Amino acid sequence: MSMLKHDSYTPGLGQQYNGTGGAGLRTAFGLAEAGLNTACITKLFPTWSHTVTAQGGINAALGNMTEDDWQWHMFDTVKGSDWLGDQDAIHYMCREAPGSVAELEHYGVPFSHTKDGKIYQRAIGSQSLNYGNGGQAYRCAAAADCTNHSLLHTLYGQSLQHNTKFFIEYFVLDLIMQDGECVGVIAISMEDGTLHCFRAHKTVLAMGGYSRAYFSCTSAHTCSGDGNAMVARAGLPLQDLEFIQFHPAGIYGAGCLISEGCCGKGGYLLNSEGERFMERYAPTAKDLASRDVVSCSMMIEIHEGRGAGPQKDHIRLQLSHLPPEIIHERLPGISKTAAIFSGINVSKEPIPVLPTIHYNMGGIPTQYTGKVLTVDENGKDKIPVRLRVSVHGTNRLGTNSLLDLVVFGHACAHHIIENLTPRKPHKAFPEGAGLVSVEFLDQIRNSNGPKATADIMLRMQKVMQCNAALFCTQQSLDEGVQNINQYRIYNSFNNVGIKDRSMIWNSYGPHPYDADSLLTPLSQ
Ligand SMILES: Cc1cc2nc3c(=O)[nH]c(=O)nc-3n(C[C@H](O)[C@H](O)[C@H](O)COP(=O)(O)OP(=O)(O)OC[C@H]3O[C@@H](n4cnc5c(N)ncnc54)[C@H](O)[C@@H]3O)c2cc1C
Repeated sequence: MSMLKHDSYTPGLGQQYNGTGGAGLRTAFGLAEAGLNTACITKLFPTWSHTVTAQGGINAALGNMTEDDWQWHMFDTVKGSDWLGDQDAIHYMCREAPGSVAELEHYGVPFSHTKDGKIYQRAIGSQSLNYGNGGQAYRCAAAADCTNHSLLHTLYGQSLQHNTKFFIEYFVLDLIMQDGECVGVIAISMEDGTLHCFRAHKTVLAMGGYSRAYFSCTSAHTCSGDGNAMVARAGLPLQDLEFIQFHPAGIYGAGCLISEGCCGKGGYLLNSEGERFMERYAPTAKDLASRDVVSCSMMIEIHEGRGAGPQKDHIRLQLSHLPPEIIHERLPGISKTAAIFSGINVSKEPIPVLPTIHYNMGGIPTQYTGKVLTVDENGKDKIPVRLRVSVHGTNRLGTNSLLDLVVFGHACAHHIIENLTPRKPHKAFPEGAGLVSVEFLDQIRNSNGPKATADIMLRMQKVMQCNAALFCTQQSLDEGVQNINQYRIYNSFNNVGIKDRSMIWNSYGPHPYDADSLLTPLSQ
């Protein structure tokens, strides 16, 4: 413990912001634009955040390709959430969507355009017109298949323009709590190994998902749910962690994503018999049915022996019938991804795909303003459940996520601006602030046990993949709980061993902390 430098405070930060994905940057620059002293702490360089993979685009009822209405978008989102999304929050998000996309274009996102100069919009699964009665909607605003890059770079540029202070490659370890309130965080600079405590009047957590709890997923290795874990360690509740989304088109073997934008452009799924089987499961929406419907249909085909390939264990995504100019203009990144990860030339052969973990609907319960909700001493909700934001319920609709980042990022910044008293002095940190985190870090760093963190993580991922998969039974879930808790995957941390003791770019990376991040919520 004494080896660690723990005196490097950064006093006087008004707000502090953990995470520089789309959500983090949208909130941060909203705060900085209003003149508030804003710091962004991020373990990744901002434009490397997982948001950079969101190729499909962003939903908004702009009505640029066909007539559209935000209330039709709201209908689709409520229905797509399996009726478990919060309708007030969905109402807010869909109503604000057209303004948010127009605002993004104004800030510099280079959307593709139609011949008459309007933002180009493509078809994405489960988007309908006229409350499901008017056929397919073209609601997803896109910058070719690079909306991801464009959005993230634009938001980063705007944050820099408004003098947001960035702490890049700082890994936040834990929240610093005082009287039930978050007064800052403790972080390690991975570059020089120094530890830092940051004080803040308001702390915003936008730290992405936890798909890496699973063995096969579309998410970056960095999506390790650190934000959820630090909230759980601080004794605050998490919500809906079991709501996991599978994406139908993970590349077989690699898990990385082929965007639904392909089906929007006319791609379709085939079983081993060359049949477009989605016509049987969803006669109207077909391959553009919601992700849970398509994923389950694919798995049924495989289970019933109609899977493709020598082992009949995957499905084929057909694109080769599309005109080459469409692939070149609208789906250039996808052809590259398919070539790299499956060796396929999409203009000649179908891509082998399999449903894979894509998105986590659960997380830290908040109001639509980002204010965190908690429970009282009896474990009862302090604020009624109906006021919690869960716009995606049990199933997020494609390209509604970039939308939620910008709409709620904006709402969160706005709420802080309205509720913060400028130039208020900071509270003193509680005695021993951050000490527990430093001790834990030190304990792992000096550990000599027989278990490697990578092995613990792999065991956890396999249990999740096997026991909490697309089709779950009570028995598979009970076994999963036993494996995580009873057979002590969680507690195997006590026997962990690390050979690299360095504080600077430790070759085990933040793995030990990542593994703990993923295991902490799972063990609840
Ligand atoms: C392959 C793929 C394709 C997708 N396509 C689309 C799409 O087309 N349209 C759509 O709407 N949605 C899409 N999504 C979903 C969407 O991209 C994500 O839900 C969204 O980008 C998440 O943004 P975020 O800001 O919450 O998190 P992220 O972009 O993951 O950012 C998290 C940030 O938190 C920081 N962080 C995390 N832990 C720590 C820590 N301990 N210390 C410091 N910093 C930390 C990271 O550095 C990072 O900056 C896709 C997702 C994937 C995986």
